[in-house]
Amino acid sequence: MEDNREEDSERRRNFIDMYKFELGFRKSYQEKLETAMEKLEALKKEFKETEDDLKYLTTTRVERIGEIVKPLDKKRFIVKGNDGGRYVVNCCNKVDQSKLVSGTRVTLEKKSLTIMRILPPMVNPLVYNMVYRGDVRYSDLGGLSKQIRDLRDYIELPLTNPEVFQRVGVKLPKGVLLYGPPGTGKTLLARAIASNIDSTFMTVVSSALLSKYLGDSSLLVREMFRYARDHQPCIIFMDEIDAIGRRRGSSEGEVKTSECDRVLIELLSQLDGFNELDKVKVIMATNRPDVLDPALLRPGRIDKKIEIPLPNGDSRMRILKIHASGITKHGDIDYDKVVKLSEGFNGADMRNICTEAGMLAIRAERDYVVPNDFINAVTKLGEAKKLESSAQYNADFRKE
Ligand code: ATP
Repeated sequence: MEDNREEDSERRRNFIDMYKFELGFRKSYQEKLETAMEKLEALKKEFKETEDDLKYLTTTRVERIGEIVKPLDKKRFIVKGNDGGRYVVNCCNKVDQSKLVSGTRVTLEKKSLTIMRILPPMVNPLVYNMVYRGDVRYSDLGGLSKQIRDLRDYIELPLTNPEVFQRVGVKLPKGVLLYGPPGTGKTLLARAIASNIDSTFMTVVSSALLSKYLGDSSLLVREMFRYARDHQPCIIFMDEIDAIGRRRGSSEGEVKTSECDRVLIELLSQLDGFNELDKVKVIMATNRPDVLDPALLRPGRIDKKIEIPLPNGDSRMRILKIHASGITKHGDIDYDKVVKLSEGFNGADMRNICTEAGMLAIRAERDYVVPNDFINAVTKLGEAKKLESSAQYNADFRKE
């Protein structure tokens, strides 16, 4: 009797366990089903939109593009056609009329000039090409943990968590300057930030903003910031900022000087033009901070200057190991000796040691690198470096 009861309770426990397990199983499948249904809905929507687009392209005879000048009432609008004429036109029912404000680009039916669609704003292809989608991890950077932390505090935090600044009552930073000798990882650092934040990232080498046509460069700067404002949150990275940010009146040649000055003035006004609450942040990089215009560097425009110095022994070791990790090696590499021999090397030189060691292996018809290749590579590069003249940058600038 007693045994039977125990057996019953044991079976009941087993059934309860099985029931719980099945319940959990069902729940996980239900969740999977829900996400699959959501995906299906999104795909159905996309499919319908594509079909609409196709139908639209094959049936309608839209041949004109226009721009809304002014809405007259709920149904009628004044538009400027691409022939320069202005017309009062109607709008087809499918178009969301609340979006038809001054400056909106639209397509117009050929004969009746009815507004058929809203077009996205026109983007300068040069500005569009500035958008960068990268894949650099923070772990690809060696010896820059303090700089990464600073940059994340001044650029990432205001974008992802602006309330923190508002609670403390301080203004949100707008921009950061990265400065230091060449090849120390400034560009790489900016790219790492870009790859790790969910925001639009625009990168431009500042000299590319200079056009030979008068006024074009300022227009490009304006369009760049307009694009950034339209695609918030956005980070603009301006490399080699000394190309346009030189102290005014310092460059030689009158025409070039005035064009550079104009671009700088436009840049200053754009930096002032956006509110610190706007989710647009600017990162600039240079290895000549001493020649920059003080107006560019003042807080409110550039709120933090981060020095990226030449790597010390520890950092050189980290950089070397990062770049050596992908190399096929035989034998124990004496990293300490390589680091000791690489005094005065920058990050790019450390990467070059690995490339050079690989080249020595290829020349010796090997598929792998041996410890001596690294030693020979660093010695060879050290000798070559002695002949190079090192770039100067003003050490006084470090004192913020
Ligand atoms: P410049 O001022 O001349 O533009 P930079 O400081 O922007 O130079 P980068 O272009 O970022 O230098 O670095 C050049 C290359 O050197 C990088 O692509 C990377 O491979 C290597 N490198 C430099 N610094 C580091 C670092 N700290 N960690 C890992 N790799 C580095």
